[in-house]
Amino acid sequence: MKYQTPRGTLDFLPDKCAERVYIEERFRYTFTRWGYAEIRTPTFEYFDALKLGTGDELINSMFTFEDKGGRLLALRPENTNPVCRVVATKMQHYSKPIKLFYIGSQFRYEEPQSGRQREFFQAGVELLGINTPETDAEVIAILIEALQNIGLKDVRINLGHVGVFKSLVQEAGMNLSEAAELRKNIDKGNIEALEDELNKLSIQNSLKEAFRLLPELKGGIEVTDQLLELIDSPDVDAAIENLRAIAKVLDGYPYAGQITINLGIVRGIDYYTSSVFEAFVPEMGESALGGGGRYDNLIAEFGGQDVPATGYAVGIDRCHLALEKQNYEFPKPEIRILVLYLTQEERNIAIQTTINLRRVGFPVLLTFEEKGIVAGLKLADKQNVPFVIIIGEKEVKKSEATVRDMTKGSQESVSFKNLIEYFFSKMVK
Ligand code: AMP
Repeated sequence: MKYQTPRGTLDFLPDKCAERVYIEERFRYTFTRWGYAEIRTPTFEYFDALKLGTGDELINSMFTFEDKGGRLLALRPENTNPVCRVVATKMQHYSKPIKLFYIGSQFRYEEPQSGRQREFFQAGVELLGINTPETDAEVIAILIEALQNIGLKDVRINLGHVGVFKSLVQEAGMNLSEAAELRKNIDKGNIEALEDELNKLSIQNSLKEAFRLLPELKGGIEVTDQLLELIDSPDVDAAIENLRAIAKVLDGYPYAGQITINLGIVRGIDYYTSSVFEAFVPEMGESALGGGGRYDNLIAEFGGQDVPATGYAVGIDRCHLALEKQNYEFPKPEIRILVLYLTQEERNIAIQTTINLRRVGFPVLLTFEEKGIVAGLKLADKQNVPFVIIIGEKEVKKSEATVRDMTKGSQESVSFKNLIEYFFSKMVK
């Protein structure tokens, strides 16, 4: 017990860790190419700040604790709220739009299972300061591109609009807490439980029918017609009009064919106001790789001006799992050269040779003691190192290293001053 990690946490041993770093680097690569800048916020903050706008589901999952002064703190369960706190309190004067991304750990007290941990990792973007269909579309497009750029195939997006659900809740004279069960059943597509819940409510039949219909409205943008025929509400009309405008902008991106309208997506976090979306790959079934949407009122909750915003978070753990299921071949970080000195006399020149090669970017190993050629080559073979530089008395005397190509089994002499050029020509960087 003492030496196990707590439930829902993971150690990443070097091979898995390298894959993680690769995924994170690919996300960073995509986000920066789209003009997003990285931001980092504390892992723990005041509970009162972290809970703003998030809703009961997330609040109940937070790890909370008191500091020595009795202040209530919590580990962050997601990163949109902290980014909004920063924008509201420290970045109001930045010119808009503000485009930010983060990569980091999040914490939720949930039942651990495959793809669900208590400490997990998210990469996400937030686009703040503008509310246009073009900004909604950009964020969805960068989600697809980011997932494809880490190597995932068959990425699909379900796109909905929580404004529709929220307007229906309002029409029904309820608030969001009262509608929590409805939302859960719509989100999970539990039609029977949804019907049971609706039967308990004394609201207009057309509203009941609309709630019941939401999880079934999937397909092209024309699925929204059914709802317009059923419900006469300016707020629902406006939400659908907004969804149609976003879908139209998305038509201009090469990913339009990967997007399905799905009004059953209502998401468990309260701060969303309009478009909401989730990303999937077939190998992960119903388990979303990531999701997000527009949240136009969250920043004002921190006492700042109104700043409209949209963004998403993807789970790095689930992306990793999905890549494994798709048999993705992660690039292997490899040591390319082993420097082997035969006696202590050659140690200093071996150190200098190693340093010179590392300085220009080659990953190089240096043996830790004088080694015979046979033992040295065996080591290189075990570690899959393709080139060995052998430095013995003879090499120092002639100012020429012996370079062995492990793949070909051949070797040649290369003068010390030409070694860098030689390896560049071999393109083993
Ligand atoms: P959310 O912040 O709930 O919208 O979640 C966004 C994404 O984060 C999900 O689609 C998952 O990929 C990931 N995620 C959320 N909760 C967990 C968790 N407990 N364990 C692992 N990944 C998670």
